Formats: sequence, structure tokens, C-alpha cells
Amino acid sequence: MADFKPLKGYRALYHPAFNKSTAFTREEREEYGLKGLLPYKVGNQENQLERVLENLRRKASDIEKFIFLASLHERNERLFYRTVCQNIEEIMPLIYTPTVGQACKEFAHIFRRPKGFYITPEDKGQIREMLDNWPRPDTRVIVITDGQRILGLGDLGANGMGIPIGKLQLYVACAGIVPRQCLPVMLDVGTNNEELLNDPLYLGYPHKRLEGEAYYELVDEFVQAVQDKYPKALIQFEDFLTPNAYGLLSKYKDEILCFNDDIQGTASVSLAGVYAATRGMNVPFKDLRIMFLGAGSAATGIGDLMVTAFEAEGLTNEEARQRLNFVDINGLLVKSRTDLMSHNLPYAHDREQLEFVDAIREIKPHILIGATGAPGTFSQDVVEAMCAVNDRPAIFALSNPTSRAECTAEQAYRWSHGQAFFSSGSPFKPVDYAGKIMRPGQGNNAYIFPGVGLGVIASGATRITDDMFLVAAKTLAEMVSDEDLAAGALYPALTDIRSVSLAIAVKVAEEAHRSGHATEDMPDDLEAAISATMYKPVY
Ligand code: NAD
Repeated sequence: MADFKPLKGYRALYHPAFNKSTAFTREEREEYGLKGLLPYKVGNQENQLERVLENLRRKASDIEKFIFLASLHERNERLFYRTVCQNIEEIMPLIYTPTVGQACKEFAHIFRRPKGFYITPEDKGQIREMLDNWPRPDTRVIVITDGQRILGLGDLGANGMGIPIGKLQLYVACAGIVPRQCLPVMLDVGTNNEELLNDPLYLGYPHKRLEGEAYYELVDEFVQAVQDKYPKALIQFEDFLTPNAYGLLSKYKDEILCFNDDIQGTASVSLAGVYAATRGMNVPFKDLRIMFLGAGSAATGIGDLMVTAFEAEGLTNEEARQRLNFVDINGLLVKSRTDLMSHNLPYAHDREQLEFVDAIREIKPHILIGATGAPGTFSQDVVEAMCAVNDRPAIFALSNPTSRAECTAEQAYRWSHGQAFFSSGSPFKPVDYAGKIMRPGQGNNAYIFPGVGLGVIASGATRITDDMFLVAAKTLAEMVSDEDLAAGALYPALTDIRSVSLAIAVKVAEEAHRSGHATEDMPDDLEAAISATMYKPVY
């Protein structure tokens, strides 16, 4: 409440950060001019939460639950975040993947109220001025998408706004970033999705996508406007098409405070799963061989961070890259191929072309990571080939949403006779395999980016480095307990997410100080200092 001058009357009830609804006390009702505007009984957040959960659980479908929660977010911010934080396992899949995928597809139809900031090509030359319309002066975290590659669902144009909104909700819920410091941005450069262009309710810029030089100029105008208006703000690039994702990251990563979550966040959470798997498999990290199915932004980002991690263990860059093999839609990445993209070239090895399963038999990877968007590509043959070369293989089926996963948790356990560690991008329910409950881990980026953001804000870091993602991965892996591993899980339970984020924030802030990127003083007790800044969604 300290952030706000008291609001009066209906304004108090309609301001989401101020509103406590039936929990306004008798004194507050008097003071804020609320007498007569509320039912008699003074409630509290606990019984409001009970009412919310009762209403939420009564909704028949996940999209209805999404809409209900979105409305709660608009009405009463603290109650919304309390609901999310206290029921994270139930609610994260509703406000983020997989439900957010459907919510984006239907965005223009379920739209209630604008949240966030929209930029179109018509705004060229005016973006800095427009930013003055955003009412919050202390913006510290910006998530921006152009909607061209939403999850595994393709070009959803302005409907992709559901993603920045959802990601920022996770920053708040998982790491206690203060809501008023968050800014979701839709860079609406049009869409090539005919279905959307023909939809009379579509809300976006109704033209084909802006591309090439003009596209990059618009992004640059936005980036420079942010440097001027919010010089301390972190920009998270989200769900851009792979070549643009790489183009923007390489252009800005050493210039401004930014990262790409699909590339670097995914890499970090996957690396954490791999670190944890090495404990369960009893193979030293530096001895690992890893195979990827898919060689796009997610897989390559994981590969790049793995190289940094191997180098940190004493391998040369060449030795590190040799540990990684990629298979894409056209086969193994080998030097003789002429169709590779620039980000693939460091991983094209001097060897013969092999079928995917033959490549597993020949190369004998300990870990298999799928980031294809192609469901069913980890067939029984594939899982059995992994088991033939490992006692306990680790299988990561990262494609989102759930329907696109390379295999299901149940398939991985059944085909490996319960030996595989399994992790996925979207959540799978625990599986009863031969009387033992296996808990599939979710390689959810939400384990990483909120904590990284919190550490960046706490240290006033001016850049986000690969080493920050490396320490984030190590910290996350250290929080996996022996009980988690025994149940086949490579990640801690989501219910621990706030302490995971705090631990990551501490290490990221330390790394910012170590590398000379911090601008804030180092407090005597860093953990206590960061913890004190975390938003707590109580009245
Ligand atoms: P992308 O389009 O950049 O890359 C896809 C890659 O998969 C390409 O290299 C393509 O050749 C390959 N591919 C497609 N079908 C294939 C097939 N049948 N066999 C072999 N290779 C095939 O996409 P991306 O950004 O890398 O994302 C890929 C998937 O990863 C998406 O489904 C996305 O949801 C998921 N992802 C998951 C997480 C996470 O779990 N934390 C994070 C980011 C992305």
C-alpha cells in the first residue's frame, strides 16, 4: 500500500493494486469513502482465497479458468498473486503453458481489457514519446514479443501478447518482482497468418509482417527509446522467429541489458537438468555426450551454454563442441551438408550422415534432448536405443505445448522399463510405473528467468552474461534433492520456486559483482537484502 496515495470511493475498488474488496476494514471503509459500497461483513484474504478457489475449480475448462484468473488479476492484484503463489502447481499451467497457448490463439475473442504496450509500424518515429503514456516510472523488466513463433504454435500476430503478460506474471509470482515494475510489450508488425487477418475480431495491425531492414529499424527504435526512458530496465526477447531471435540477441547482448529466454533461459534450465542427471547417472559432467533432436533456437541455445559449461570444466572449445551432436529435420549436422544455418555451423562435425537411431547407437549419448515441435519423434526405438547404451539415460522432451512433446512421460518410463530420467517442457502428471510413482520433471524456464531478473535488479547489473545463466543452472541443480532424483525428477518441486528464485538471484548478483557488471553496492547480507525487496502479495 505504501506505493499509493489512498484512493477514494469506487476508485479504491477499481484499482487492482489498491483494491482489497471485502477485506477493507471498517476504519478503511470510513477513511476511503467506501461505506455503502461493500457488503456488511469484513472479510480477509484467506476467505477471499477460499472463494476464488471454489469459483476457479467450478469452471469446466482450462481456458475458462484462464479467463477467470485474468479477470481476478485486473480486479485485485494481491489476491491474484496470493492465489498463484499458494497454488503454483495447479495455477502455473493455467496462466502459462499449456493453457496460455490456447489463450493466445483465442486472444482476440477472450479480450477484456488492455494490459501492456502495443507498437505498430505506424508508430515509427514516435515510440519514445509513446512510452511517456505508460503510467509507471520505475519499469525494470520488459518482456517483448513480435508474436511470430508463439510456443510451438507459429505466427499468432498480436494475439501473442498473452505471452509477455504471462511471463511477467511468473516474474512476480516466482521471484517477487514488484508488479508495477513490469511492462509487457507487443511489437505488432503484422501477421502472415491468413486466418487471423480474416478474423473480424482480430485486434492487431491487419497487414502482412514488416520484414528486413524496416523491421530491424523498428525494433531498434524501441530498444533506444527504452534506454532513454528506462535505462535500468531489463529487456527479455520472447518467442521471436529463430533467425530474428539470433539476429536481435547478437546485436544487443553486449550493448544493453537483455537476453532471449527461448535461447538462454531454455539453455539454463536444460543445463540444470543435465547437471542433476549426472548425479543420478553417476557420470561426471565433463565426460558427457549429448544428442539433440532439433537444431533451432532452443536446441542451439542449450548447446552454446553446454559448451560454456564444458569449458568451465577444462575442455577446449573444440573438445566441448565434439561432445554435442545435433539431428534436425534433414538429419545429422555434418560438415558435408549445404543447408545449414549459421548457428548450426559450429556443431556440424566431420563425420558420415547417419539415421537418428543409428546415430544414437554409434555416438552413444548419455542424454537426449528434443526441441523440435514434432510430437512422437522419440519413438519406442529411440528410447530403447538410449537404454541399450546407458543404464539410466536422461530424456528431455522439451517441445511445447504438451501435445507437441517428443514423447510422453508414460512412454519414456514404459519403454525404458522405468530406467529413464524424463523431463519435459510442459507439465506431465506423475506416472505409476510398476507400482512406483515416477515424478516427471518440468524443464520450465520459470525456474530460471525470474531469479535471474531478481538478481539483475538487486545488483543493478548492466549486462546479462552467459556466466550468469551458468551459475543459475548450477544453483537450480543443487536444489534437486536425492528424493527428487529417486523419483526420476531432475528439478525441485514447483512449490519451492520462490526459494529457488531467491537462491538464483543471490548467485546472479554475486556473479554481476565478480564480473564488474554490478552498479549497486554489495550488501553485507545479500540474501536478506534481496529477500526484503521481494513482493509479498498480502494486504
Ligand atoms: P525452431 O523452429 O527454431 O527449431 C525447430 C528445429 O526442429 C529445427 O532445427 C527443425 O529442423 C527441427 N525439426 C522439426 N521437426 C523435426 C523432426 N521431425 N525431426 C527432426 N528435427 C525436426 O524452434 P525452437 O525455438 O528451437 O523450439 C522448438 C521447440 O522447443 C518448440 O516446441 C518450443 O515449444 C520448445 N521449447 C521448449 C522450451 C522449454 O521447454 N523450456 C523452451 C523453448 C522452446
